Amino acid sequence: MALGKDYATQECSIARALEVVGERWTLLVVRDAFYGVRRYNDFLVHLGIPRAVLAARLQTLTAEGVLEKRRYQDSPPRDEYVLTDRGIALWPVLRALSLWGRDHFTENRLRIFRHASCGTELGSYGECPACGTVVPAPDVEVVPGPGLDPNPADPVSRAILKPRRLLQPIEIEHG
Ligand SMILES: [Zn+2]
Repeated sequence: MALGKDYATQECSIARALEVVGERWTLLVVRDAFYGVRRYNDFLVHLGIPRAVLAARLQTLTAEGVLEKRRYQDSPPRDEYVLTDRGIALWPVLRALSLWGRDHFTENRLRIFRHASCGTELGSYGECPACGTVVPAPDVEVVPGPGLDPNPADPVSRAILKPRRLLQPIEIEHG
């Protein structure tokens, strides 16, 4: 029997949240969406995830209102997946989880997050220590950290190598 993804005996809001984002790969799909990944094939090459799993995660995230499906091409029909306000509200969660992982499990700093308008690195709670404000996701600039491979193989990793704001759609260089 497959393990269910719901927690029928739990009324806790953490349990409810985990029913939406607690499956394997889900938060990495959301992370990539913050990096500006929007298209199925781009998620696929960047995550190296089985197609059926990616399709299921995108379906769940869309059904739960975390991602919104938008048609960007009619023939053949192609959709992209864009974070909704509900999805963007996960930014502090990802930020905290990332710091927890770094503090306890890995020293590797792949990316550094800064307040775009002043260049100051974000504090532990996603705040700008210089400006004294919590920085909303669109005002966060991502720059490569010392642990990031400077010459990655896949085009999505290359596209997000440059300093850029969260949520800004990636531009893939073809050819
Ligand atoms: Zn600032």
